[in-house]
Amino acid sequence: MPENGAQRGRPLASPGLVWAPGRVPMSSRFSDIYYSRDGGLEEARHVFLGGCGLPGTWRNDESFTVCELGFGTGLNFLATWEAWRRARFKNARLHYIAVEGFPLLQSELSEALLEWPQLRAAVRGLMRVYPQPQRGFHRVFPKIRGDDDSSGVTLTLLFGNAHEMLSQLEARIDAWFLDGFSPDKNPDMWSAEVFTQLARLSHTLNGGTRLATYSAANSVREGLATAGFESVKTPGFGHKREMIRAHFRGGAKTEPLLQPWFARPPSAHGTRGHAAIIGAGIAGTSTALALNRRGWRTTLIDRREVIAAETSGNPMGILVPRLTAAANAHDGRFYAAAWRFVLDMLEDISESSSTMLRDRCGALQLATDDTETARQKSIMDAAMLPEPLLFQVNSKEVSDIAGCALPYGGLYFPQGGWLRPRAVCAALAQKSNTLLGVDAVSLTHSGGLWQVADGAGRVQTQADVVILANGLGSGAVPHTAWLPLVARRGQISMTPPTEMSASLRAVLSFGPYITPPYHGAHCVGATFDAADATQTFGDITANDADDVRNIAAINAVLPNMLEEQRTVAPHHRAAIRCTSPDHLPIAGPVPDQGAYLRDFAEMRHGHPWAKYPEAAYQAGLYVLTALGSRGLTAAPMAGEILAAHITGEPWPLERDLMTALHPGRFLMRDLKRREV
Ligand code: SAM
Repeated sequence: MPENGAQRGRPLASPGLVWAPGRVPMSSRFSDIYYSRDGGLEEARHVFLGGCGLPGTWRNDESFTVCELGFGTGLNFLATWEAWRRARFKNARLHYIAVEGFPLLQSELSEALLEWPQLRAAVRGLMRVYPQPQRGFHRVFPKIRGDDDSSGVTLTLLFGNAHEMLSQLEARIDAWFLDGFSPDKNPDMWSAEVFTQLARLSHTLNGGTRLATYSAANSVREGLATAGFESVKTPGFGHKREMIRAHFRGGAKTEPLLQPWFARPPSAHGTRGHAAIIGAGIAGTSTALALNRRGWRTTLIDRREVIAAETSGNPMGILVPRLTAAANAHDGRFYAAAWRFVLDMLEDISESSSTMLRDRCGALQLATDDTETARQKSIMDAAMLPEPLLFQVNSKEVSDIAGCALPYGGLYFPQGGWLRPRAVCAALAQKSNTLLGVDAVSLTHSGGLWQVADGAGRVQTQADVVILANGLGSGAVPHTAWLPLVARRGQISMTPPTEMSASLRAVLSFGPYITPPYHGAHCVGATFDAADATQTFGDITANDADDVRNIAAINAVLPNMLEEQRTVAPHHRAAIRCTSPDHLPIAGPVPDQGAYLRDFAEMRHGHPWAKYPEAAYQAGLYVLTALGSRGLTAAPMAGEILAAHITGEPWPLERDLMTALHPGRFLMRDLKRREV
């Protein structure tokens, strides 16, 4: 539920931005200013960058992770990004994580940053990706035109209370910027619980994680000391006599919050390798983009001769998020985060694409009965997505948006619509090598490399990591044969517009869906039927009976919308989708099944988790599958998740969501139920 003081469209409370004399931004909620009256940018450089020894401690081929407490106007971020760009590193990324409990709105941020004309290009880059004030993690990629993406910056904004957000973070922080409002005005930001999280996320390598804060309060030094930081007072900025610099020495053992069966595998941290990705559909190509962005080489391998020839090969695919009513349910939160992520990604690739990738015509989820009306009310109450990403609309508004008279209210996603999935996959795969028409059937690991061989035993490629992103095929090698993948047959039908449907200009979905007409056809879908998991693509043929069902499903709710039993070229298409028993995607490292069942055997008796060893994985083997019928929405975020697993980078989402997608969850579920 929204915090106290939150308004509709603003799920987190406002800081109450006002301008103090000297045009310094100030929060009326905390009666404190965002940065020094003596110069915010100089303060950022002196206190935070200087206090952590930056840019001096950055190295050309080492990624670096900063975490700031109190993103505010983003000025410290912009100062850090500017210094990183100046360093012109070739083989490193800057990960900038920032917690913010009372985010400024885009309009407020833009107003505040007008103060810094010298940072104009970076401000523009930030403004393009700055998220709506929605609780949770937001991973974005601010960019300045012409910059090399692979040495760029990844910004992860954690919108919510500092302690709650830090407790959900999995990352190895190299430098902390503590910039909450002053401890006497805002003790929450400087609590013992927050300091415990700082210790959990810090390390003792290379002199230990650095920390800087403008505050010189004794209570802060004491809190830091208890958490294992050694601190000194040094000259402050402007009229402030002193500030604190510190580094992490280690101290009282902090308990990991990550359960051992989800422990992070040894990663290729800092190295840029070669990944072989099996499956060139939306899952594989999304992962390729995420790894290419990090300077990895990728090879997409597919048994078909073209990209996105199987489940991702429909001529049109709808883009609508799958929200659930329960505010804390993993699937609803995951799909809300995935929705924000895919919209940014599409924006990005559309800019550089010469072909049409999508129609951002908007999507309406109709409330066609009382159950759905109640479900939509819960989604709105839970503030799953803020305006302008989601609006609740009445039947008059639905009719105006849709372009034809409809008797239902519903949810409106203005950025939704439909995609051309093949064109999107091709755009995502732009920087990837491809091995098409190659059936990768065997994987062997030797000398630290994976060999991927075809049916004739020919090694087609060697790679540091292999990613199984080929739907049901992801469970077809012995390493993953235990994954409980479920097959579902889906058929779409192309049908000509009628007098009633011709004016439709938004996607309508209410279980079944219909797109606006494009080149003389609506895309209508989709069936969702039990299927035989051993079928290959060649075995699956579309049939007329399913066209009748698809069209009838629309007409049952919107009478006479479509002409019965009429299709037009390319008529129809069927494919097998892969889903999982809990309907969430599977994304992460592949557990060593034997080791899991042995190491965690005591879980059959529910023994507490602190006593177990860390999970053992198939070195360098990862999986991304079970995207079900929401692949277009879920895949980009899932690809980003995989890239974080592979490179050892900060996780892009809350720990509970990352572990909800972890492949090992099924083994643990079976152990707990004593089914293995
Ligand atoms: N670094 C910022 C900048 O560059 O503009 C200024 C940060 S300002 C001094 C402190 C920030 O901490 C505010 O944006 C405030 O909303 C945030 N904050 C205060 N209490 C918080 C809490 N308990 N959890 C998360 N954020 C909090």
